[in-house]
Amino acid sequence: MIRFLPAAALGIALTLYAQSPPRIYWGDEVPAGWTGQWPDDLRTVPERTGYTRTMSTLQLHEWIAALKLRTESLHVLNVFTSPLRKVAPALVLSNPRVPSPAQARASGKPVLFLMGNIHPPESEAAEALLMLARDLAAGSRRALLDRLVVIIMPIFNVDGTDTFVTQNGGLGSETPHILGVRENSQGLDLNRDAVKLVTIEANGLYRALNAWDPMLFLDGHLMSRVNHGYANTYGTTTVPAAAPGPREYMNDTLFPAVRDAVRRQFGLEVFTHALFAGEGWPPAAWSHDRAAWTVEAKFVVNDYGLRNRLAIITETPGQPTFERRIYAQYAYLSALVEYAAAHGAQMQAAVTKADAETVASIRERAESWQLRNWLDGEYRSRGKIDVLGYRENVAEYKPGTSLMSTRPGTASGPPEVLKGLDDLTLPVGTRDAVVPRGYLFGAEYPELAAKLRAHNIAVRTLDRPMRAEGESFAISRMRKVRSAGYDMTVLDGQFSGLITRDFPAGTFFVDLAQPMANAAFYYLEPQARDGFVGWGVLDATLEALGTGKGEATYPVFKFRREVQ
Ligand SMILES: [Zn+2]
Repeated sequence: MIRFLPAAALGIALTLYAQSPPRIYWGDEVPAGWTGQWPDDLRTVPERTGYTRTMSTLQLHEWIAALKLRTESLHVLNVFTSPLRKVAPALVLSNPRVPSPAQARASGKPVLFLMGNIHPPESEAAEALLMLARDLAAGSRRALLDRLVVIIMPIFNVDGTDTFVTQNGGLGSETPHILGVRENSQGLDLNRDAVKLVTIEANGLYRALNAWDPMLFLDGHLMSRVNHGYANTYGTTTVPAAAPGPREYMNDTLFPAVRDAVRRQFGLEVFTHALFAGEGWPPAAWSHDRAAWTVEAKFVVNDYGLRNRLAIITETPGQPTFERRIYAQYAYLSALVEYAAAHGAQMQAAVTKADAETVASIRERAESWQLRNWLDGEYRSRGKIDVLGYRENVAEYKPGTSLMSTRPGTASGPPEVLKGLDDLTLPVGTRDAVVPRGYLFGAEYPELAAKLRAHNIAVRTLDRPMRAEGESFAISRMRKVRSAGYDMTVLDGQFSGLITRDFPAGTFFVDLAQPMANAAFYYLEPQARDGFVGWGVLDATLEALGTGKGEATYPVFKFRREVQ
């Protein structure tokens, strides 16, 4: 059995751990009886099917309806209605109940937003989120709702979730036997829509994030077959343009503490979201790049960091059983929520400080034209680390079946401890640009203003003409570069140097003295790695301006100051 230790006993627990290490569960192992005893209508679909099935959106609604009868702490938010007319619900859990963002703010409690099924074939986080919601609403973690507002959205991609297909174990595991598909009903990957915001789903999610302003956002995933030795992995925003404070808080403080808690309370080893890099064995490095984590903003978790907020992606390995993967997500989520209940003020302070510093640096330094921020970056080494790994993880058909499985004896039991690997997870900026005091663009671009506002960026219009000093960008060439499955737009050209230009009343103005300054900079800069230009948000506008047929001026002006 697992022992639950209150946060106040942390010091004692560490002492105990030093004397007697906790039992660690490897491979497919889980502790007996870990789910607890629940009435039938609160048992999840995996619990009721021996972990061979995952829920549909309708089953989620049925489960929420049952939970409503057992708690006063639940408000259900209908986040959006999908392209196939399905409602995506979120559970807002707090004691007392908070039915609106205004009441959440008035409560003074930190708000967490925990999400599953952005990729429905990776449904273990969704199922674990129901178990956590059950603990918070009607179980052993009820007291945490006195200190937190926890918003749980188990199924983000509702249409993909309900597009069921049988699976053959290609993701690494045989269970569950039937799963949803990765994309939404338009064939779009919702975890590439964080900058361009073209889907109903992402726009619905962002409306909720804008309104509730969660201090922390978590998105749960699975990585197919891997040969590291961890039950779960975690990462945070690595867009170099994001304020460094929240990222440093995650890496230096929250991640190590939650990692220890997961080991101590749940008997699992968890570590950074990365994979081995380099030929041969042992491998030379532990690399974010190899796990397809990037410095781009296209992932919701990466993009959320541009808001000065805390963000986490979790990724379980693919080959363990569905039960083991749910347990791994449940352990991480539970330890995280307990950590947030104990350290909410400290977490909130990291976020508030980043907001204040972002605004202050614009006010104090932008007009000097000396303030700069990153357009792109790469991962470098944080130093040498030890990593748990399996030399072999062999996929093969399970004899007598048409299911792909793991060869017995590979990727099981205690892994090897691999010494002295390069920890290639430190994001470092590689190209930068001047951060202006603001951006100006013409009244003929209301869609651009709407896109910025969808990202929670304040945009106003000039109520009188203005003569402004600043810089424009002359585009010499517009081209498409294939990158990670997408045709990204790239602009070649150069800035004008400081010039003066007149703007009429009605011109859109983005004053960067706002907490969203880093996001606005990254989306609007013409040469950011994957801003609005990169994701094609401005393709039609740029083509209409004659880009490609000769020299054209980028329609967004970098504003330094008003002149007479
Ligand atoms: Zn995923």
